[in-house]
Amino acid sequence: MSEKSMAQQLKEKLFSKSKNGRLTASQETLSKAEEYCQGYKSFLDNAKTEREAVKAAIELAEKKGFVEFIIGNKYKSGDKVYINNRGKSVAFAVIGKEPVEKGINITAAHIDSPRLDLKPNPLYEELELALFKTHYYGGIKKYQWTAIPLSLHGVFALKDGSVKEVCIGENDDEPKFVINDLLPHLAQEQSKRTLNEGIKGEELNVLIGSHPFRDDKGSELVKLNILQLLNEKYSITESDFLSAELEMVPASKACDIGFDRTMIGAYGQDDRVCAYPALTAILDVENPEKTALAILADKEEVGSMGNTGLESDFLRYIVGDLAKMQNGDGTVALRNSKCLSADVNAATDPTFQEVMEKRNASFLNYGVVITKYTGSRGKAGTSDASAEYVAGIRNMLDNAGIIWQSGELGRVDLGGGGTVAQYIANLGVDVVDLGVPVLSMHAPFETTAKLDVYMCYRAMYEFMK
Ligand code: MN
Ligand code: MN
Repeated sequence: MSEKSMAQQLKEKLFSKSKNGRLTASQETLSKAEEYCQGYKSFLDNAKTEREAVKAAIELAEKKGFVEFIIGNKYKSGDKVYINNRGKSVAFAVIGKEPVEKGINITAAHIDSPRLDLKPNPLYEELELALFKTHYYGGIKKYQWTAIPLSLHGVFALKDGSVKEVCIGENDDEPKFVINDLLPHLAQEQSKRTLNEGIKGEELNVLIGSHPFRDDKGSELVKLNILQLLNEKYSITESDFLSAELEMVPASKACDIGFDRTMIGAYGQDDRVCAYPALTAILDVENPEKTALAILADKEEVGSMGNTGLESDFLRYIVGDLAKMQNGDGTVALRNSKCLSADVNAATDPTFQEVMEKRNASFLNYGVVITKYTGSRGKAGTSDASAEYVAGIRNMLDNAGIIWQSGELGRVDLGGGGTVAQYIANLGVDVVDLGVPVLSMHAPFETTAKLDVYMCYRAMYEFMK
Protein backbone atom coordinates (compact mmCIF):
# COMPACT_ATOMS: atom_id res chain seq x y z
CA MET A 1 0.00 0.00 0.00
CA SER A 2 1.49 3.31 -1.02
CA GLU A 3 1.56 6.03 1.60
CA LYS A 4 -0.46 9.15 1.03
CA SER A 5 1.60 12.22 0.24
CA MET A 6 1.61 15.14 2.63
CA ALA A 7 -0.49 17.14 0.17
CA GLN A 8 -2.98 14.31 -0.07
CA GLN A 9 -3.29 14.06 3.69
CA LEU A 10 -3.66 17.81 4.08
CA LYS A 11 -6.28 17.96 1.36
CA GLU A 12 -8.35 15.31 3.09
CA LYS A 13 -8.12 17.27 6.29
CA LEU A 14 -8.68 20.78 4.98
CA PHE A 15 -10.76 20.73 1.80
CA SER A 16 -14.52 20.61 2.08
CA LYS A 17 -15.96 17.32 0.94
CA SER A 18 -19.02 17.22 -1.24
CA LYS A 19 -19.65 14.04 -3.16
CA ASN A 20 -22.40 12.47 -5.17
CA GLY A 21 -24.56 10.79 -2.56
CA ARG A 22 -25.22 7.82 -4.80
CA LEU A 23 -21.51 7.02 -4.55
CA THR A 24 -21.27 7.42 -0.79
CA ALA A 25 -24.63 6.19 0.50
CA SER A 26 -24.98 2.57 1.58
CA GLN A 27 -27.11 0.18 -0.43
CA GLU A 28 -29.49 0.12 2.52
CA THR A 29 -29.89 3.89 2.41
CA LEU A 30 -30.57 3.81 -1.33
CA SER A 31 -33.24 1.15 -0.81
CA LYS A 32 -34.83 3.15 1.99
CA ALA A 33 -34.90 6.20 -0.28
CA GLU A 34 -36.63 4.16 -2.95
CA GLU A 35 -39.23 2.89 -0.50
CA TYR A 36 -39.78 6.33 1.02
CA CYS A 37 -40.43 7.85 -2.38
CA GLN A 38 -43.27 5.42 -3.11
CA GLY A 39 -45.26 7.21 -0.40
CA TYR A 40 -44.10 10.55 -1.71
CA LYS A 41 -45.35 9.81 -5.22
CA SER A 42 -48.81 8.85 -4.04
CA PHE A 43 -48.93 12.01 -1.89
CA LEU A 44 -48.10 14.03 -5.02
CA ASP A 45 -51.00 12.43 -6.90
CA ASN A 46 -53.49 12.85 -4.05
CA ALA A 47 -52.54 16.38 -3.05
CA LYS A 48 -52.17 18.63 -6.06
CA THR A 49 -53.63 21.70 -4.37
CA GLU A 50 -53.21 23.24 -0.93
CA ARG A 51 -56.68 22.10 0.11
CA GLU A 52 -56.04 18.53 -0.99
CA ALA A 53 -52.64 18.57 0.72
CA VAL A 54 -54.19 19.67 4.03
CA LYS A 55 -56.79 16.93 3.75
CA ALA A 56 -54.27 14.22 2.86
CA ALA A 57 -51.88 15.36 5.60
CA ILE A 58 -54.57 15.33 8.30
CA GLU A 59 -55.71 11.89 7.17
CA LEU A 60 -52.18 10.51 7.58
CA ALA A 61 -51.75 12.31 10.91
CA GLU A 62 -55.01 11.06 12.42
CA LYS A 63 -53.89 7.51 11.71
CA LYS A 64 -50.82 8.29 13.83
CA GLY A 65 -52.87 9.60 16.74
CA PHE A 66 -52.96 13.34 16.04
CA VAL A 67 -56.12 15.11 17.22
CA GLU A 68 -57.44 18.59 16.51
CA PHE A 69 -56.02 21.13 18.96
CA ILE A 70 -58.69 22.79 21.06
CA ILE A 71 -57.84 26.06 22.78
CA GLY A 72 -58.38 25.69 26.51
CA ASN A 73 -57.65 21.97 26.58
CA LYS A 74 -54.51 20.79 28.34
CA TYR A 75 -52.12 18.59 26.40
CA LYS A 76 -49.27 16.75 28.04
CA SER A 77 -45.81 15.82 26.86
CA GLY A 78 -46.00 13.34 23.98
CA ASP A 79 -49.48 14.42 22.85
CA LYS A 80 -49.99 15.01 19.14
CA VAL A 81 -52.21 17.79 17.83
CA TYR A 82 -52.97 19.65 14.64
CA ILE A 83 -54.36 23.08 13.83
CA ASN A 84 -56.26 23.36 10.55
CA ASN A 85 -56.26 26.90 9.17
CA ARG A 86 -59.28 27.18 6.83
CA GLY A 87 -58.46 23.92 5.10
CA LYS A 88 -55.59 25.56 3.24
CA SER A 89 -52.75 25.48 5.71
CA VAL A 90 -52.13 23.22 8.66
CA ALA A 91 -49.74 22.81 11.58
CA PHE A 92 -48.88 19.58 13.40
CA ALA A 93 -47.33 19.59 16.87
CA VAL A 94 -45.94 16.98 19.23
CA ILE A 95 -45.78 18.38 22.75
CA GLY A 96 -42.29 18.21 24.24
CA LYS A 97 -41.00 17.35 27.69
CA GLU A 98 -39.63 20.87 28.16
CA PRO A 99 -41.99 23.84 28.48
CA VAL A 100 -42.97 25.46 25.16
CA GLU A 101 -41.53 28.72 26.52
CA LYS A 102 -38.04 27.20 26.34
CA GLY A 103 -38.43 27.14 22.57
CA ILE A 104 -39.77 24.76 19.95
CA ASN A 105 -38.33 23.18 16.82
CA ILE A 106 -40.29 24.27 13.76
CA THR A 107 -40.20 22.97 10.21
CA ALA A 108 -42.09 25.02 7.63
CA ALA A 109 -42.90 24.07 4.06
CA HIS A 110 -45.54 25.28 1.63
CA ILE A 111 -48.27 23.32 -0.12
CA ASP A 112 -49.40 25.82 -2.75
CA SER A 113 -47.81 25.55 -6.20
CA PRO A 114 -47.87 27.62 -9.38
CA ARG A 115 -51.06 26.93 -11.36
CA LEU A 116 -53.91 28.58 -13.25
CA ASP A 117 -56.78 29.89 -11.14
CA LEU A 118 -60.17 30.42 -12.76
CA LYS A 119 -61.25 34.06 -12.86
CA PRO A 120 -64.31 35.10 -10.80
CA ASN A 121 -66.35 35.19 -14.03
CA PRO A 122 -64.53 32.55 -16.08
CA LEU A 123 -67.08 30.91 -18.36
CA TYR A 124 -67.65 32.14 -21.91
CA GLU A 125 -68.47 30.93 -25.38
CA GLU A 126 -66.71 31.93 -28.58
CA LEU A 127 -67.14 30.36 -32.05
CA GLU A 128 -69.37 27.73 -30.48
CA LEU A 129 -66.67 26.54 -28.10
CA ALA A 130 -66.87 26.99 -24.33
CA LEU A 131 -63.80 28.21 -22.44
CA PHE A 132 -62.62 29.29 -18.99
CA LYS A 133 -60.65 32.50 -18.44
CA THR A 134 -57.77 32.02 -15.99
CA HIS A 135 -55.44 34.17 -13.94
CA TYR A 136 -52.16 32.41 -13.29
CA TYR A 137 -50.99 31.98 -9.71
CA GLY A 138 -47.28 32.29 -8.88
CA GLY A 139 -44.33 32.52 -11.21
CA ILE A 140 -44.89 30.50 -14.36
CA LYS A 141 -43.47 30.39 -17.86
CA LYS A 142 -46.85 30.73 -19.54
CA TYR A 143 -45.93 28.92 -22.76
CA GLN A 144 -45.33 25.72 -20.75
CA TRP A 145 -49.01 25.46 -19.85
CA THR A 146 -50.40 25.04 -23.36
CA ALA A 147 -51.16 21.78 -25.15
CA ILE A 148 -50.91 19.61 -22.04
CA PRO A 149 -53.84 17.83 -20.34
CA LEU A 150 -55.15 19.77 -17.34
CA SER A 151 -57.41 18.79 -14.48
CA LEU A 152 -59.71 21.03 -12.43
CA HIS A 153 -59.53 21.05 -8.62
CA GLY A 154 -61.13 23.20 -5.97
CA VAL A 155 -64.39 24.20 -4.39
CA PHE A 156 -67.61 26.07 -5.00
CA ALA A 157 -68.85 27.74 -1.82
CA LEU A 158 -72.58 28.34 -2.13
CA LYS A 159 -74.72 31.01 -0.52
CA ASP A 160 -76.45 28.43 1.68
CA GLY A 161 -73.11 27.67 3.34
CA SER A 162 -72.49 24.37 1.59
CA VAL A 163 -69.17 23.68 -0.11
CA LYS A 164 -68.96 21.51 -3.22
CA GLU A 165 -65.62 19.90 -3.88
CA VAL A 166 -64.43 19.63 -7.46
CA CYS A 167 -61.83 17.23 -8.83
CA ILE A 168 -62.12 16.32 -12.51
CA GLY A 169 -59.46 14.93 -14.79
CA GLU A 170 -57.33 12.80 -12.47
CA ASN A 171 -58.81 9.40 -13.24
CA ASP A 172 -58.20 7.72 -16.58
CA ASP A 173 -61.90 7.64 -17.41
CA GLU A 174 -62.46 11.31 -16.63
CA PRO A 175 -62.28 14.14 -19.18
CA LYS A 176 -59.34 16.55 -19.13
CA PHE A 177 -59.05 20.17 -20.25
CA VAL A 178 -56.53 21.96 -22.43
CA ILE A 179 -55.18 25.37 -23.41
CA ASN A 180 -54.57 25.33 -27.13
CA ASP A 181 -51.58 26.90 -28.84
CA LEU A 182 -51.10 28.17 -32.35
CA LEU A 183 -49.85 25.73 -34.98
CA PRO A 184 -46.25 26.47 -36.12
CA HIS A 185 -47.49 26.98 -39.69
CA LEU A 186 -49.33 30.12 -38.59
CA ALA A 187 -47.08 31.16 -35.73
CA GLN A 188 -44.72 33.36 -37.72
CA GLU A 189 -45.84 36.49 -35.88
CA GLN A 190 -46.17 34.73 -32.53
CA SER A 191 -42.61 33.39 -32.89
CA LYS A 192 -41.27 36.95 -32.93
CA ARG A 193 -42.63 37.57 -29.46
CA THR A 194 -40.23 37.25 -26.53
CA LEU A 195 -40.42 33.94 -24.66
CA ASN A 196 -42.11 35.76 -21.79
CA GLU A 197 -44.85 36.94 -24.15
CA GLY A 198 -44.98 33.79 -26.29
CA ILE A 199 -48.28 33.05 -24.62
CA LYS A 200 -49.83 36.03 -22.87
CA GLY A 201 -51.80 35.91 -19.64
CA GLU A 202 -55.09 36.57 -21.42
CA GLU A 203 -54.33 33.76 -23.86
CA LEU A 204 -54.37 31.12 -21.11
CA ASN A 205 -57.96 30.17 -21.95
CA VAL A 206 -59.02 26.61 -21.20
CA LEU A 207 -61.15 24.64 -23.62
CA ILE A 208 -64.00 22.96 -21.73
CA GLY A 209 -66.74 22.02 -24.21
CA SER A 210 -68.24 22.09 -27.69
CA HIS A 211 -71.73 20.58 -27.56
CA PRO A 212 -74.56 23.12 -28.02
CA PHE A 213 -77.73 22.77 -25.98
CA ARG A 214 -80.26 21.30 -28.47
CA ASP A 215 -82.57 24.19 -29.17
CA ASP A 216 -83.20 25.90 -32.49
CA LYS A 217 -83.08 29.43 -31.12
CA GLY A 218 -80.78 31.48 -28.94
CA SER A 219 -77.11 32.20 -28.51
CA GLU A 220 -74.43 30.78 -26.21
CA LEU A 221 -75.88 27.31 -26.41
CA VAL A 222 -72.53 25.58 -25.72
CA LYS A 223 -72.06 27.68 -22.60
CA LEU A 224 -75.65 26.90 -21.62
CA ASN A 225 -75.03 23.19 -21.98
CA ILE A 226 -71.89 23.40 -19.79
CA LEU A 227 -73.79 25.30 -17.11
CA GLN A 228 -76.52 22.69 -17.20
CA LEU A 229 -73.94 19.95 -16.67
CA LEU A 230 -72.35 21.87 -13.79
CA ASN A 231 -75.76 22.59 -12.30
CA GLU A 232 -76.65 18.91 -12.34
CA LYS A 233 -73.37 17.93 -10.73
CA TYR A 234 -72.74 20.76 -8.24
CA SER A 235 -76.08 22.64 -8.03
CA ILE A 236 -74.35 25.83 -9.14
CA THR A 237 -75.28 28.72 -11.39
CA GLU A 238 -72.94 31.07 -13.21
CA SER A 239 -72.65 33.58 -10.36
CA ASP A 240 -71.39 30.86 -7.99
CA PHE A 241 -67.99 31.05 -9.72
CA LEU A 242 -67.41 34.25 -7.74
CA SER A 243 -67.34 32.34 -4.44
CA ALA A 244 -65.25 29.48 -5.78
CA GLU A 245 -61.59 28.59 -5.70
CA LEU A 246 -60.94 26.53 -8.80
CA GLU A 247 -57.46 25.64 -9.99
CA MET A 248 -56.30 24.17 -13.27
CA VAL A 249 -53.30 21.92 -12.70
CA PRO A 250 -51.47 19.40 -14.90
CA ALA A 251 -53.39 16.13 -15.09
CA SER A 252 -50.19 14.05 -15.15
CA LYS A 253 -49.20 11.60 -12.42
CA ALA A 254 -45.93 11.35 -10.54
CA CYS A 255 -43.52 8.87 -12.09
CA ASP A 256 -39.94 7.65 -12.03
CA ILE A 257 -37.50 9.36 -14.36
CA GLY A 258 -34.51 7.72 -16.01
CA PHE A 259 -33.54 4.16 -17.02
CA ASP A 260 -32.10 3.79 -13.52
CA ARG A 261 -35.28 5.17 -11.88
CA THR A 262 -33.27 7.44 -9.58
CA MET A 263 -35.45 10.51 -10.05
CA ILE A 264 -39.08 11.60 -9.80
CA GLY A 265 -41.03 13.71 -12.24
CA ALA A 266 -44.27 15.35 -11.12
CA TYR A 267 -46.27 18.53 -10.88
CA GLY A 268 -46.07 20.57 -7.67
CA GLN A 269 -42.82 19.26 -6.21
CA ASP A 270 -42.08 22.85 -5.19
CA ASP A 271 -42.77 22.50 -2.36
CA ARG A 272 -44.41 19.14 -1.70
CA VAL A 273 -40.92 17.67 -1.96
CA CYS A 274 -40.24 19.38 1.38
CA ALA A 275 -43.82 19.38 2.73
CA TYR A 276 -44.06 15.60 2.57
CA PRO A 277 -40.74 15.11 4.41
CA ALA A 278 -41.73 17.68 7.08
CA LEU A 279 -45.10 15.94 7.48
CA THR A 280 -43.81 12.36 7.58
CA ALA A 281 -41.01 13.43 9.94
CA ILE A 282 -43.38 14.89 12.52
CA LEU A 283 -45.61 11.82 12.21
CA ASP A 284 -42.59 9.78 13.31
CA VAL A 285 -41.62 12.04 16.23
CA GLU A 286 -42.30 10.46 19.65
CA ASN A 287 -41.80 12.19 23.01
CA PRO A 288 -39.40 14.93 21.91
CA GLU A 289 -37.46 17.05 24.43
CA LYS A 290 -38.68 20.26 22.81
CA THR A 291 -42.11 20.66 21.25
CA ALA A 292 -41.93 19.85 17.55
CA LEU A 293 -44.05 21.76 15.06
CA ALA A 294 -44.41 21.17 11.33
CA ILE A 295 -46.32 23.82 9.43
CA LEU A 296 -47.61 23.40 5.88
CA ALA A 297 -48.36 26.87 4.58
CA ASP A 298 -50.38 28.32 1.76
CA LYS A 299 -49.73 31.37 -0.47
CA GLU A 300 -45.92 31.14 -0.54
CA GLU A 301 -45.92 31.40 -4.30
CA VAL A 302 -47.61 34.81 -4.14
CA GLY A 303 -45.51 36.23 -1.32
CA SER A 304 -46.98 34.41 1.70
CA MET A 305 -49.85 36.90 1.82
CA GLY A 306 -53.29 36.38 3.33
CA ASN A 307 -54.46 34.64 6.48
CA THR A 308 -53.23 31.22 5.32
CA GLY A 309 -49.78 32.52 4.33
CA LEU A 310 -46.83 32.78 6.69
CA GLU A 311 -46.66 36.55 6.60
CA SER A 312 -49.83 36.40 8.69
CA ASP A 313 -49.86 35.86 12.45
CA PHE A 314 -50.92 32.21 12.06
CA LEU A 315 -47.63 30.83 13.39
CA ARG A 316 -47.43 33.44 16.15
CA TYR A 317 -50.93 32.49 17.35
CA ILE A 318 -50.19 28.77 17.31
CA VAL A 319 -47.04 29.14 19.38
CA GLY A 320 -48.92 31.57 21.64
CA ASP A 321 -51.73 29.06 22.18
CA LEU A 322 -49.30 26.24 22.90
CA ALA A 323 -47.36 28.38 25.40
CA LYS A 324 -50.52 29.71 27.07
CA MET A 325 -51.73 26.16 27.66
CA GLN A 326 -48.74 25.83 30.06
CA ASN A 327 -49.23 29.38 31.41
CA GLY A 328 -46.20 30.42 29.39
CA ASP A 329 -45.54 33.35 27.09
CA GLY A 330 -45.70 32.91 23.31
CA THR A 331 -43.24 35.70 22.58
CA VAL A 332 -40.63 34.16 24.85
CA ALA A 333 -41.28 30.81 23.19
CA LEU A 334 -40.72 32.27 19.72
CA ARG A 335 -37.48 33.97 20.72
CA ASN A 336 -36.17 30.63 21.94
CA SER A 337 -37.33 28.70 18.89
CA LYS A 338 -35.48 27.34 15.89
CA CYS A 339 -36.75 26.66 12.41
CA LEU A 340 -35.90 24.88 9.21
CA SER A 341 -37.61 26.70 6.36
CA ALA A 342 -38.11 23.71 4.10
CA ASP A 343 -38.18 24.90 0.53
CA VAL A 344 -36.59 23.86 -2.73
CA ASN A 345 -33.49 25.23 -4.40
CA ALA A 346 -32.68 25.24 -8.10
CA ALA A 347 -30.60 22.22 -9.06
CA THR A 348 -27.89 22.77 -11.65
CA ASP A 349 -29.09 21.73 -15.10
CA PRO A 350 -26.35 20.52 -17.49
CA THR A 351 -28.13 22.37 -20.30
CA PHE A 352 -28.33 25.71 -18.48
CA GLN A 353 -25.15 25.75 -16.40
CA GLU A 354 -24.43 29.39 -17.18
CA VAL A 355 -27.07 30.63 -14.71
CA MET A 356 -25.25 28.95 -11.84
CA GLU A 357 -21.99 29.69 -10.08
CA LYS A 358 -20.82 26.11 -9.79
CA ARG A 359 -18.91 26.43 -6.52
CA ASN A 360 -22.10 27.58 -4.83
CA ALA A 361 -24.79 25.72 -6.72
CA SER A 362 -26.77 22.63 -5.74
CA PHE A 363 -26.82 19.36 -7.66
CA LEU A 364 -29.12 16.36 -7.88
CA ASN A 365 -28.04 13.46 -5.63
CA TYR A 366 -25.78 15.62 -3.47
CA GLY A 367 -28.35 15.59 -0.68
CA VAL A 368 -30.48 18.16 1.06
CA VAL A 369 -29.42 21.77 0.40
CA ILE A 370 -28.63 24.36 3.04
CA THR A 371 -29.39 27.76 1.56
CA LYS A 372 -27.92 30.29 3.97
CA TYR A 373 -29.58 33.17 2.21
CA THR A 374 -31.96 33.66 -0.70
CA GLY A 375 -32.90 37.10 -2.01
CA SER A 376 -31.65 38.80 -5.14
CA ARG A 377 -29.21 41.50 -6.23
CA GLY A 378 -27.19 42.21 -3.13
CA LYS A 379 -29.05 39.75 -0.89
CA ALA A 380 -32.12 42.00 -0.98
CA GLY A 381 -35.10 40.38 0.69
CA THR A 382 -33.42 37.62 2.65
CA SER A 383 -33.17 36.87 6.34
CA ASP A 384 -29.63 35.40 5.94
CA ALA A 385 -29.20 32.76 8.64
CA SER A 386 -26.60 33.50 11.32
CA ALA A 387 -23.24 31.73 11.17
CA GLU A 388 -23.80 30.31 14.66
CA TYR A 389 -27.17 28.82 13.73
CA VAL A 390 -25.86 27.28 10.49
CA ALA A 391 -22.97 25.76 12.44
CA GLY A 392 -25.46 23.97 14.67
CA ILE A 393 -27.41 22.65 11.68
CA ARG A 394 -24.22 21.38 9.97
CA ASN A 395 -23.27 19.61 13.15
CA MET A 396 -26.69 18.00 13.42
CA LEU A 397 -26.60 16.77 9.81
CA ASP A 398 -23.06 15.41 10.06
CA ASN A 399 -23.69 13.64 13.34
CA ALA A 400 -26.73 11.90 11.85
CA GLY A 401 -24.88 10.93 8.66
CA ILE A 402 -27.27 12.93 6.48
CA ILE A 403 -26.00 13.74 3.00
CA TRP A 404 -26.14 17.49 2.44
CA GLN A 405 -24.75 20.28 0.29
CA SER A 406 -24.93 24.05 0.26
CA GLY A 407 -26.40 26.13 -2.53
CA GLU A 408 -27.19 29.63 -3.68
CA LEU A 409 -30.12 30.40 -5.95
CA GLY A 410 -28.14 31.07 -9.12
CA ARG A 411 -25.52 33.64 -10.08
CA VAL A 412 -25.25 36.98 -8.29
CA ASP A 413 -27.26 39.67 -10.11
CA LEU A 414 -29.01 37.17 -12.36
CA GLY A 415 -32.27 36.73 -10.55
CA GLY A 416 -33.10 35.17 -7.23
CA GLY A 417 -36.06 34.38 -5.07
CA GLY A 418 -37.36 34.15 -1.55
CA THR A 419 -38.95 31.74 0.88
CA VAL A 420 -40.95 31.90 4.09
CA ALA A 421 -37.68 32.08 6.09
CA GLN A 422 -37.79 35.88 6.30
CA TYR A 423 -41.29 35.95 7.81
CA ILE A 424 -40.42 33.37 10.44
CA ALA A 425 -37.18 35.23 11.21
CA ASN A 426 -39.32 38.34 11.81
CA LEU A 427 -40.86 36.55 14.80
CA GLY A 428 -37.45 36.30 16.47
CA VAL A 429 -36.91 32.68 15.47
CA ASP A 430 -33.54 31.37 14.23
CA VAL A 431 -34.19 30.06 10.74
CA VAL A 432 -32.33 28.70 7.72
CA ASP A 433 -33.56 27.30 4.42
CA LEU A 434 -33.06 23.59 3.96
CA GLY A 435 -34.68 21.66 1.14
CA VAL A 436 -34.42 19.61 -2.01
CA PRO A 437 -32.81 20.66 -5.31
CA VAL A 438 -35.28 20.70 -8.21
CA LEU A 439 -34.90 20.80 -11.99
CA SER A 440 -37.49 22.71 -14.05
CA MET A 441 -38.77 24.46 -10.93
CA HIS A 442 -42.28 25.97 -11.41
CA ALA A 443 -42.82 24.03 -14.65
CA PRO A 444 -45.92 21.82 -14.97
CA PHE A 445 -43.58 18.85 -14.49
CA GLU A 446 -40.62 19.19 -12.12
CA THR A 447 -37.76 16.77 -11.47
CA THR A 448 -36.08 15.76 -8.20
CA ALA A 449 -33.76 12.95 -7.09
CA LYS A 450 -35.05 10.26 -4.74
CA LEU A 451 -31.97 10.28 -2.53
CA ASP A 452 -32.32 14.04 -1.92
CA VAL A 453 -36.00 13.64 -1.01
CA TYR A 454 -35.15 10.96 1.55
CA MET A 455 -32.31 13.06 2.99
CA CYS A 456 -34.79 15.90 3.41
CA TYR A 457 -37.02 13.61 5.45
CA ARG A 458 -34.07 12.52 7.57
CA ALA A 459 -33.05 16.14 8.20
CA MET A 460 -36.58 17.14 9.20
CA TYR A 461 -36.83 14.19 11.57
CA GLU A 462 -33.42 14.79 13.12
CA PHE A 463 -34.35 18.43 13.74
CA MET A 464 -37.69 17.73 15.42
CA LYS A 465 -37.14 14.37 17.16
MN1 MN B 1 -41.07 26.93 -2.87
MN1 MN C 1 -41.80 28.30 -5.77
